[in-house]
Amino acid sequence: MSIKIVIAGPRGRMGSEAIRMVIGEPDFELVSCIDRKEAGISLLAEKGIPVFQHPEEAFYGSDVDVLIDLTVAEASYNHIMMALQKKIRCVVGTTGFTAEQLADIERASRESNTGCIIAPNFAIGAILMMHFSKIAAKYLSDIEIIEKHHDNKVDAPSGTAFKTAEMIKTVRKSKRQGNQEEIEVLKGARGAVDDGIHIHSVRLPGLVAHQEVIFGGEGQLLTIKHDSMNRKSFMEGIKLSVNNVLGLEELVYGLENVLDLDS
Ligand code: NAP
Repeated sequence: MSIKIVIAGPRGRMGSEAIRMVIGEPDFELVSCIDRKEAGISLLAEKGIPVFQHPEEAFYGSDVDVLIDLTVAEASYNHIMMALQKKIRCVVGTTGFTAEQLADIERASRESNTGCIIAPNFAIGAILMMHFSKIAAKYLSDIEIIEKHHDNKVDAPSGTAFKTAEMIKTVRKSKRQGNQEEIEVLKGARGAVDDGIHIHSVRLPGLVAHQEVIFGGEGQLLTIKHDSMNRKSFMEGIKLSVNNVLGLEELVYGLENVLDLDS
């Protein structure tokens, strides 16, 4: 039996890629989409897939298994809370939730025994890049992170850079790197500093999502690098999450907790 899916944010860059992924998967069935504007999307029209402006219309009376949400935090929060109330599982790529919103979603998921996966990064390679960086940081503690994104991105550093630093900090002894007398002649030249780890953000047209973590040791350098060349790179993680969320009864945050990384 196919997994019945609703996508929120179908006109977006991620949402339109997700439509193509879901339609192309033999085990998935796209039953409808949620879009705040009534704008025709030719692929959906061709396939006769309805687009609703309000989530209650998409969820009402239909047999929906999973909501995939790729919108903005405020709208996504409302979509998720409504879906969980109706025992519809959620796979969420939307970023920017507040701690309070995440706590509400965690509670709603647990109380309704309905699984939910929220992953700020669905690229499996990026998750591996963070995992390998954490392993390397045990042995090489002088680290600089360079993240590069398209110039429409509003936040800096990226959530992935933050998360990488967080993971590294669990194994790296806190220290100030570089020359202890270092002076920034131009403010910001050494990037942001998180517990001594320097993080540099590059924003340019032409980039999608890229990060390298550079480890320095006596006479050696190790670079762990990941590049998302386009939004297709996130689809394998979404697919995996849709299949996994069906077996969950609570919130799982982060694709690393869906992947079996330690075996
Ligand atoms: P995008 O191209 O700007 O698309 C966002 C979509 O959400 C648009 O269709 C937009 O419609 C809709 N939207 C905006 N505000 C809304 C509201 N209040 N109610 C309902 N719909 C609303 O962005 P994107 O690049 O596809 O990214 C979508 C989300 O995924 C973002 O949160 C982004 O940070 C995140 N993201 C996650 C990953 C991951 O791996 N987890 C990767 C890339 C991006 P309008 O045109 O009407 O505004």
